[in-house]
Amino acid sequence: MSAFFPSSPGSFPASTVLGYPRIGPRRELKRALESYWDGRATRAELDRVGAEIRERTWHRLAELGLDGLPSNTFSLYDQMLDTAVLLGAVPARYRDAADPYFAMARGTDGLAPLRMTKWFDTNYHYIVPEIGPETVFKLDAAKPLAEVRQARELGYETRPVVVGPVTFLLLGSALDRLDEVLACYEELLAALAAEGVAWAQFDEPALVGDRTPEELAAVRTAYERLGALGTRPALFVASYFGDLGESLPELAATPVEAIGIDLVRGRMPGVDLRGKTVVAGVVSGRDVWRTSPERALAALGAVRAAQVVVSTSCSLQHVPYSVSDEPDLAPELKERLAFAEEKVAEVVALARADFRGSLPAGPHGLSVALPAPVVAEGRGPYAGRAAAQKAHLRLPALPITTIGSFPQTGELRAARAALTAGTLNQEEYERRVEAEIEHAIRLQERLGLDVLVHGEPERNDMVQYFAEHLDGFAVTRNGWVQSYGSRCTRPPILYGDVSRPGPITVRWSTYAQSLTDRPVKGMLTGPVTIVAWSFVRDDLPLRDVVFQVADAVREEVRDLEAAGLSIVQVDEPALRELLPLRRAAQDDYLEWAVAAYRRATSGASDRTQIHTHLCYSDADQILAAIDGLDADVTTIESARSGARILGTVAAFGRGLGPGVYDIHSPRVPGVEEIEELLSRTVAALPAERVWANPDCGLKTRTYEQVEAALTNVVTATRRIRAEL
Ligand code: GLN
Ligand code: ZN
Repeated sequence: MSAFFPSSPGSFPASTVLGYPRIGPRRELKRALESYWDGRATRAELDRVGAEIRERTWHRLAELGLDGLPSNTFSLYDQMLDTAVLLGAVPARYRDAADPYFAMARGTDGLAPLRMTKWFDTNYHYIVPEIGPETVFKLDAAKPLAEVRQARELGYETRPVVVGPVTFLLLGSALDRLDEVLACYEELLAALAAEGVAWAQFDEPALVGDRTPEELAAVRTAYERLGALGTRPALFVASYFGDLGESLPELAATPVEAIGIDLVRGRMPGVDLRGKTVVAGVVSGRDVWRTSPERALAALGAVRAAQVVVSTSCSLQHVPYSVSDEPDLAPELKERLAFAEEKVAEVVALARADFRGSLPAGPHGLSVALPAPVVAEGRGPYAGRAAAQKAHLRLPALPITTIGSFPQTGELRAARAALTAGTLNQEEYERRVEAEIEHAIRLQERLGLDVLVHGEPERNDMVQYFAEHLDGFAVTRNGWVQSYGSRCTRPPILYGDVSRPGPITVRWSTYAQSLTDRPVKGMLTGPVTIVAWSFVRDDLPLRDVVFQVADAVREEVRDLEAAGLSIVQVDEPALRELLPLRRAAQDDYLEWAVAAYRRATSGASDRTQIHTHLCYSDADQILAAIDGLDADVTTIESARSGARILGTVAAFGRGLGPGVYDIHSPRVPGVEEIEELLSRTVAALPAERVWANPDCGLKTRTYEQVEAALTNVVTATRRIRAEL
């Protein structure tokens, strides 16, 4: 086989997408993964489902008329984990596991998984590569080569996509290993060339953030070196989620043949790209709205390059498969929507400059202009609140609580499906939810927890549930988007002004409280998170949309308080997620995000204890903002991230519950391990401010795991209490 050298830069296909959903239109991959993990299916059966999903995707993309088909955008779990495997960065402790790949992703009985965190400003989570002095990089190109070959057998020449060296190392905090990693990428390019691959795509989203001079130099070094390889496919470096800024001149100065630019979030830069192919991301991969042909054509027209390729602004993995799968949506909303398939059709239409039958897409919001919101009155200072709450709640030292959800059983999901299908009536459904609440309350009493939760059995999802009960939102039937591994969410579509027609959770929380003398926490999702995990209208500033949602949450907080709940938790796990990638835009965001949270919670009296919860304490950049939320108690993930941030959060001077174990893994934590984490916290701040709790909700675990884990939490907490 001979290596391919692009004879002219014009040889990139006219239309492409940077990536595609891979969970399967009916979440086939989720089901296959879960069967495999439960031992109900073999690895071969799992791999067969993966192969089918890839096959279907290529056929569909080709059918829709797309010229440039990507490969290796499929993953059994995560593309960063795939890249770690590609480069041989598999920590030694996982190598002997039955399945090292899933051991890294999910842990095993004896092994904690690798850390997981959010992919830039999306709600997708990637596995953070663990790179240490002992890491020996060594190429294992089996996966990309297998995908290229599978596509070729189906008659498609594809462009394999891998995470690029700079992004991989920046996310793995190991840019000093560039030299070794580049040797692997060189080897990869040689292997792809030998396979007859014409183009390779290296994803470098990290280049849209602020980069230091050393990091910019690394960009230059990396692509000069890879570009200088004698025998290689043409190189396409894809950026997305914003402007390349000062990274662009660096990239442009290297021999890479094509550069991908996000023209939805970013603008066409002044840099001269006439020697390059520009893959112009004019169809958004981050929203669900139809593309405005005028806007897209104007953006394309502004590109000065040797060749302009029409593409999506990022991988389409962040949007659902197809609007045609949504029979319940109102026609006037549906005609404004584009999911992955429709976006591919838009890319093709733009490349062919063919818009027959397409609607001119305007701003996507149906506004009726709400009355000006009330000005939020503030709560009193913390000292007074703490005293009032202490007298009222009478909790022991190191109160034990959970983050809200208890396991979502199969029966419960079946009941919800039956309710939707009309085969179960509302009354019977509510009776079952109540039975589940009672079960959770009795369990918590028996285990010895101090602040109880109703367990959230009525919620399919912490955002979707509220979207279903607020005006201004639509929910989809099949609009699943991968969140991590086999976990998917169905982000609601916020298309109009948001308001609360009536109380949402009060009924369930008061029922739970009626069953017990111990305090029950009301459980709400905060305004930033509701918006972050929805697809949002684009005709209003995000801030105004979040404030509308905050006012709806505020009404719910007040109703819970009026109904007798003494504690209300308002979760804001997505606070970090919407943080702009560039420093210059961050302060403004944090200011209004904090203001929205306070607006949502400040209607509560001083005696009502406000809790907040944030996942992923990858929170270093937003610690001041978390402090600014002014919640009486903050529960935060710390099991996976260690004690890194403990010192800073200790300085908040209010209640704090650093998670004492990682709920994302099925592993049951031991008593000693929990004791150690708790004692670390007790050493760092006054004991009367410390809470004991898991690091997130328990809905993805089984009752068996939860009972065992919480038993150990109670034992460990009692031991520490005895030493106080
Ligand atoms: N209250 C929610 C739960 O327990 C919080 C989940 C989250 O932080 N993602 O499930
Ligand atoms: Zn959480």
